[in-house]
Amino acid sequence: MDYKTIMVFGAHADDEIRMACTMAKLSKAGVRVVVVTMTNGCEGYPRIDMKDKIVEMRQKEADECDKVLGIARRIILDMPDMGLTNDKETLQKCIKLIREERPEAVFTHGPIDRHRDHLNTHYISVEARWHAGEPVAAELGESWYPPHLYYYKGVIGNELPSIEIDVTDTGEKVAEALATQVSQHTLFQRTKEDFLAEVEQIRKNRPKRIDTFWITEKVKLKAFLPL
Ligand SMILES: [Zn+2]
Repeated sequence: MDYKTIMVFGAHADDEIRMACTMAKLSKAGVRVVVVTMTNGCEGYPRIDMKDKIVEMRQKEADECDKVLGIARRIILDMPDMGLTNDKETLQKCIKLIREERPEAVFTHGPIDRHRDHLNTHYISVEARWHAGEPVAAELGESWYPPHLYYYKGVIGNELPSIEIDVTDTGEKVAEALATQVSQHTLFQRTKEDFLAEVEQIRKNRPKRIDTFWITEKVKLKAFLPL
């Protein structure tokens, strides 16, 4: 994980929280953490009276989450929630962002999922990572092929080799980040107070915590630096 920049793709503004502890750990160590959120989360309202405000609410919650995790930049592509399409325009936006940020590692959804936005995020980001390195579409920036690609979710069991990162020192960051996602608390069936109490518990006891990532078939294992 000796990276200067990583780029994390997520379908909705809370997906990347699955790897919150790792993002916080890397950010603390001086790594530039960039998040690309594909959709605006417009369907994430549990009550009808939230419908007109949900996009704005989730934008604010994402901003708060970025502060908690030390995310340097978040780009929300503003595609409709439940309506992310694997189209040329979105692919090209992702290629452009990869070429602009030149991350050494891309983290994204794996191919096993029931949510269409998660699956399309997988397809678009995996292709964008490859296409960004090809000498094509020069208008989108200078070619850059991120050498490492990981899945942080959307993988079945032991299908791919995995690596484990010890995130004990930032172990409270998942709960702390989820506490910021107030509009989603009905879905999570927990309150902000529940999450903050968990943060306190983890800070007090500091239990051992591991984040797991799956290494994709296109990455040469021998290129990995010792962890
Ligand atoms: Zn999602």
